[in-house]
Amino acid sequence: MKRNPMEIRLIVFVTLCMIIAISFVAMLIFNKNTASATGGIKTTVDEDTFTSQRKQMVEEQIAYRGIKDKKILDAMKSVPRHLFIPEENRFCSYYDQPVPIGFGQTISQPYIVAFMTDLLKLDEGDVVLEVGTGSGYQAAILSKLVKQVYTIEIIEGLGKASLKRLKTMGYDNIEVKIGDGYKGWTEHAPFDAIIVTAAAEHIPQPLIDQLKPGGRMVIPVGSAYTVQDLILVSKDVSSKIVKEAVIPVRFVPLLHK
Ligand code: SAH
Repeated sequence: MKRNPMEIRLIVFVTLCMIIAISFVAMLIFNKNTASATGGIKTTVDEDTFTSQRKQMVEEQIAYRGIKDKKILDAMKSVPRHLFIPEENRFCSYYDQPVPIGFGQTISQPYIVAFMTDLLKLDEGDVVLEVGTGSGYQAAILSKLVKQVYTIEIIEGLGKASLKRLKTMGYDNIEVKIGDGYKGWTEHAPFDAIIVTAAAEHIPQPLIDQLKPGGRMVIPVGSAYTVQDLILVSKDVSSKIVKEAVIPVRFVPLLHK
């Protein structure tokens, strides 16, 4: 049977469409880089590699340096740090360093996240305030260890992205607010613990006021873009304040509106 040129063109066109459709479906099935268990967030290295890098990070950077609390080690092992980092920087998610997260801000070095968390001596019934949500990673770690986390971010773009990320990933005991964390969060005060992840020139009085008697706060104190002191503030049961400089650190500055 002889086909006319119009028919031939149609057959070629339909065949090409089918090849494209089949290739597309095959790509979706075989592309391991699309992590469906992570809310559809795309990663550039496959999840198994990230999981083994994370295990190594906990062993070599955190446990090795003396963090012994199993709950903290387990939290650091389970929270997928790379999903809190922009795709172009994801390859260095598990390096022993802070990583840029946009807006001139950084996610803290893994060891510092674990060290500050350890200083707070948290209990599972605690209510914690974080100032400086950034990527939401520190909040996610805290949420594994306590009852409720309140976190404040001053940069709207970062705060909104973190709120969305934390919701997508199922962290339902974290509340994010856009605002100036210098003032704390009076509606939810007092807090069992407060963690400030940006360097303040001095310890904000509202945060001291919003700490429960018997509570602890960690905060880097010092000038912007220099080495600061990480200060552990303890409020005893009679509300007496004791401050102790623990280690030198380097944080982005706490902005104040
Ligand atoms: N904890 C974050 C990293 C913090 S970087 C994480 O896990 O990713 C410090 C963050 O503090 C930045 O996002 C910065 O925008 C925010 N910040 C600075 N000043 C602030 C303020 N006064 N109130 C709330 N957030 C502030």
